[in-house]
Amino acid sequence: MSNYVVLGGGIAGIACTYFLDNKSCTIYEKDDDYGGLCGSTQINNFTFDKGLHLSFAKSSSVRGIFDKVPYFTYNPEPYNYYKGLWIKHPIQNNLYKLPIDEKMKCIKSFLERGESKENFNNYEEWLYAQYGKYISDKFPKLYTKKYWCDEARNLETKWVSNRMYSPSVDEILYGAMTDMTKDVYYVKEMRYPKSGGYKSFLGPLTDNLNIKLNKKAILIDGKYKYVVFNDNSKVYYENIISSIPLPELIGILKDVPDEVINASKRLIATSMKIVSVGLNKPDIFNKLWFYIYDENILPARAYLPSLKSSNNVPEGCSSMQFEIYESPYKKINMSDSNLCEHIEKCMMEMKIAHSNDLLFMDVKSVDHANIVFYKDIYDNRKIVHNYLKGIGIHCIGRFGEWDYLWSDQSFLSGMNMSFELRKKK
Ligand SMILES: Cc1cc2nc3c(=O)[nH]c(=O)nc-3n(C[C@H](O)[C@H](O)[C@H](O)COP(=O)(O)OP(=O)(O)OC[C@H]3O[C@@H](n4cnc5c(N)ncnc54)[C@H](O)[C@@H]3O)c2cc1C
Repeated sequence: MSNYVVLGGGIAGIACTYFLDNKSCTIYEKDDDYGGLCGSTQINNFTFDKGLHLSFAKSSSVRGIFDKVPYFTYNPEPYNYYKGLWIKHPIQNNLYKLPIDEKMKCIKSFLERGESKENFNNYEEWLYAQYGKYISDKFPKLYTKKYWCDEARNLETKWVSNRMYSPSVDEILYGAMTDMTKDVYYVKEMRYPKSGGYKSFLGPLTDNLNIKLNKKAILIDGKYKYVVFNDNSKVYYENIISSIPLPELIGILKDVPDEVINASKRLIATSMKIVSVGLNKPDIFNKLWFYIYDENILPARAYLPSLKSSNNVPEGCSSMQFEIYESPYKKINMSDSNLCEHIEKCMMEMKIAHSNDLLFMDVKSVDHANIVFYKDIYDNRKIVHNYLKGIGIHCIGRFGEWDYLWSDQSFLSGMNMSFELRKKK
């Protein structure tokens, strides 16, 4: 009998195991490596992460672990690409580079935006109240379709928090007249391991880690307390902690009531294709990461692993990654080779690289990227969580808590669960 079975070897599962007690915990991970979304891979001596991944952890518990790894520090300076223009982030504070007629429309619509209020029916209403209709329609609403894969009017707003900056009239006017605007991004310092990719931050947690790879949980019996894996092996548990996505967890559990199954089916997450590109030139581009608004360009975001750390590429080379999001409601329907062709054209359109700069392109799929905040998310999540609690399954991490957690918050989710379980011992 295993004392603690932990499902999922991402940062949440690993942190939970580390703080609980390595000896009595076993992590079962479906992939052939640990790290989950915080994982990194090598392709032709280039290191790539699964998505942007820079750390802005504040918690001393997380910093105490991450800071053991040598790291670089950055002042984040995200940019926006819009119809050939490179605009400082956020666009609403930095209208300077827009053509004069667009700038006027942005400002007029901002001034007519009306009263702000406490509660909004949906994200579209929230955007209109902060930025006015013109800015909202041109920028965040288009980005919403690319990133959240749905219309802003279908989303709720609790997730927004400090992620979107709400400017004053003065800031809008100032940013329309000069590009000497102050930095208002909600994070002031970002960190990245000097070598080995983002996964290296997990290094100090993984000594003596008891992790079994290539073990996909395919059935859980909550009554007799066992898990079956895809290789037909079976393990009994006293305690079970899961970081696997809630809908997947409900799908492999025996005898779940219909109400819970239906609620779990309403929990929607985006999936992601990441196109990683190796380039045969150093310093191919100078922006660490940027958001893309143009509808004819599929990726929502792009970034340069070679700028995060020069150790991510062989000497004389650069690298880029592009994130393309899909959901059950929005499919890209493009083969990997067509996607690579598309990215190549985009890089040329954005004047970042030419075909003869490319060394290779690689496409990887990530099944669960971001949780989508539909209006019924909290009710459905509660139904699922209450049921799992009732049968003794503890949920951690981004997809166990089913929330918009950054890597440090997923770490803390695992760590806090370990403290709770230790109290019960
Ligand atoms: C594109 C993108 C960019 C991001 N950028 C940043 C950033 O810059 N900074 C930051 O702090 N955070 C960032 N994050 C958030 C961060 O990646 C997550 O908060 C964190 O990695 C989640 O960790 P987790 O352990 O909760 O989940 P996961 O990493 O998803 O771990 C869950 C694990 O469960 C495994 N699993 C699934 N099903 C099964 C099964 N049936 N059996 C066994 N194992 C299974 C999976 O393979 C996975 O390894 C980003 C996320 C995305 C999607």
